[in-house]
Amino acid sequence: MEKAQLRIWVSLMSTRTSESFIDSNLDYDVVVIGAGISGLYQLYCLREAGFRACILERGTGVGGTWYWNRYPGARFDSESYSYAYSFSEELLEEWNWSEHFASQPEILRYLEYVADKFNLFKDIRFSCEVTKAQYMEEETCWQLILANGSTVSARILITALGILSEPTFPNIEGINSFSGESFHTGLWPKTPVTFEGKNVAVIGTGASGVQTIQEIAHEVRNLTVFQRRPNWCAPLNNSDIDVDEMNEIKANYKDMFAICSESHGGFIWTVDPRGTFEVTAAERVSFWEYLYASRGMSIWQGNFKDVLSDPVANKELSDFMANKIRQRIHDPEVAELLIPKDHGFGTRRVPLETKYYETYNQPNVDLIDLNRSPIRAISPKGVITSEGEYKVDTIIYATGFNAITGSFDRIDIRGASGQALKEEWSSHLETFLSVQVPDYPNLLMINGPQGLGGNHPRNIEYSVEWVTSLLEHMKSRNLRRVEPSISAVQTWSEHVRAKSGSALANKIDSWMTGINTNVPGKDKRVVGFRYGGSVQSYRLFCDSVAKGGYKEMIFS
Ligand code: NAP
Repeated sequence: MEKAQLRIWVSLMSTRTSESFIDSNLDYDVVVIGAGISGLYQLYCLREAGFRACILERGTGVGGTWYWNRYPGARFDSESYSYAYSFSEELLEEWNWSEHFASQPEILRYLEYVADKFNLFKDIRFSCEVTKAQYMEEETCWQLILANGSTVSARILITALGILSEPTFPNIEGINSFSGESFHTGLWPKTPVTFEGKNVAVIGTGASGVQTIQEIAHEVRNLTVFQRRPNWCAPLNNSDIDVDEMNEIKANYKDMFAICSESHGGFIWTVDPRGTFEVTAAERVSFWEYLYASRGMSIWQGNFKDVLSDPVANKELSDFMANKIRQRIHDPEVAELLIPKDHGFGTRRVPLETKYYETYNQPNVDLIDLNRSPIRAISPKGVITSEGEYKVDTIIYATGFNAITGSFDRIDIRGASGQALKEEWSSHLETFLSVQVPDYPNLLMINGPQGLGGNHPRNIEYSVEWVTSLLEHMKSRNLRRVEPSISAVQTWSEHVRAKSGSALANKIDSWMTGINTNVPGKDKRVVGFRYGGSVQSYRLFCDSVAKGGYKEMIFS
C-alpha cells in the first residue's frame, strides 16, 4: 500500500517540480507535526510570515502534553504566568490565571483559547498520526504518510513533538493480564476515572507519580505506592491568584520575562551569586528555610551558585532536605525510604509537592520499597512482588517517557540517503543547534536532542522564531533546501559536550541523561542528551548563526 502510493506520487511530482521555494504542487510549504505549545506557536508564526502551513496532530484536540496528561493532580510546576506564551500582549492582557500553578484543565482551556483567538483550528488536522516521513531529493520536499493511508507533501517538515510525549510502560511480565482498570499518567482518558472505595496501586514516584499520589490518596480506599528510587521533592506552595494580584502580574510581565531571559534555565528564579560556604551556617539555613517556604522551583533554581555543581555544597543541601522529610513523616522507617540515597538534591528533576510526604502518614497509604521486594509480575488481580501479591482494582503506571528521541522513533523518518533517523540516532546522537540533522534536509526540530531544558515555553518561543527566520531567509532567496554542514554539527556537538561539564545532574541516571530502563538501548547515559549550558549561551550561539547569514548551513 505505502510503496504503491509513493510510486504514484513520485511520478506525479516528477512532471511538476518547481524551481522556487513556493511550489503550489506541494500540499503545503510547511507541515508541522504536533499541536502542543510548540506547534501552535509555530503555526501562528508561519502564517504571519506568509507560508501555507498546517499542523498534523494525532490527538483530537490541541494541547500536546496538556492534552495527554490528564491524570488527577496534573498541574504546572512552574508559575503559570511565566510558563505561558509571551508573544502577544493582547493575550497576556486578556488571560487571567486562577492559581500560581494552574491545573491541567485550566492549562488546556488556555491553549484552546489561544488556538481559537488566533484562528489556528482551521489549519490543524486532528486524528492525523504521521507514521512515515520520507525526504524526496528530486522534488526537494517531505512526503508524509498518515496512519489512515493518506499522504501529505511539504517543502519543509517541522517536528513539534514535545520532549516527553512517548509514554513507557514497565517491562513487567503479565502486564496485559490485569483484569482491573489500568492507566498510564501520560495517556490518561478523557472520560472521568473514579477512585472512591477502590484499592489502587501506583508504580513510579517521579513528578507525575507524586502529583497523582497526593491527589488521589484522600479518595481511594487503599493506596499502595511501588517505589524504585525516591526523588527529592520540594514544596510547591501553590495558592490562588485574586484579581488584584493578577493585575499586578500583568503590570510586571515585561520585567518578569526579562528575568526569565537572564536566568540560567529561563525561570523566574535566578541563582544566588554567593557560594554555599561563603555565608555562615545560620545564614545558610535561614536562606534555605526561606526558599523551602517559597513557591515552586525556588529551592532548585534560585539557590546558591554551587549547590548543583559542588558535591560538598550539594550534600549540605541534601542533608537539609532530608531533615525536612524526617520532620514531616511520622514513621522513621518510611521517612528513610523516601530520602534518596543514590543522588543529591536537584540532580534529577525535582517533583514539586503539596502535602506529598504527609500522604504517607495516612493509614490507607502503603509504601513498597522495590529495592527490597522487586516486582515479579502483574497478575490478573494485582501486583506480585518477591514478598507477595497486592490485590488492587486499579493500577496507575507513572513510569515516565521515552524522552526526547522516543517521539521521533515512533515515526519512520527517512533522510536523503534513505537512512532511518531512529537507526542513525541509536549509534550517533548529534544535531545542529538541536534543530537540524545532516542528511535530513528541510527537517527542522523544535527542541530536538541537544536542546535546552528548563522553562520550555520560553525556549519554544525562541526556537520557533529562530526557525521561522531561517525559513524567511530561504523563501526570500528562493532557497529550496537546507542542511547543516558536518563541521557545523561537530562544532555544535563539541560545544554541547563542553557545556555538560560541571553539573552533577550529568553524572546521574535519569531521563535527562537519556536513561529509560524500559526502553532497549536506553541504558547508557548520553553526554549532551540535552544542552547543559544556560539559556543565554544557547541563544548566543543560535543568534550568531543567524546574524552571520547561516554560514554553517548548506543551502541550495
Ligand atoms: P519519571 O520522572 O521518568 O519517573 C518515572 C518513575 O517510574 C520513576 O520513579 C521510575 O523509577 C519509575 N519506574 C519506571 N520504570 C519502572 C519499573 N519498571 N519498575 C518500577 N518503577 C519504574 O517520569 P514522570 O514522573 O512522568 O516525569 C517525567 C518528566 O515529566 C518530569 O521529570 C518532568 O520533567 C515532566 N513532568 C512535568 C510536570 C509538570 O511540570 N507539572 C509534571 C509531571 C511530569 P526510577 O527512578 O528508579 O527509574
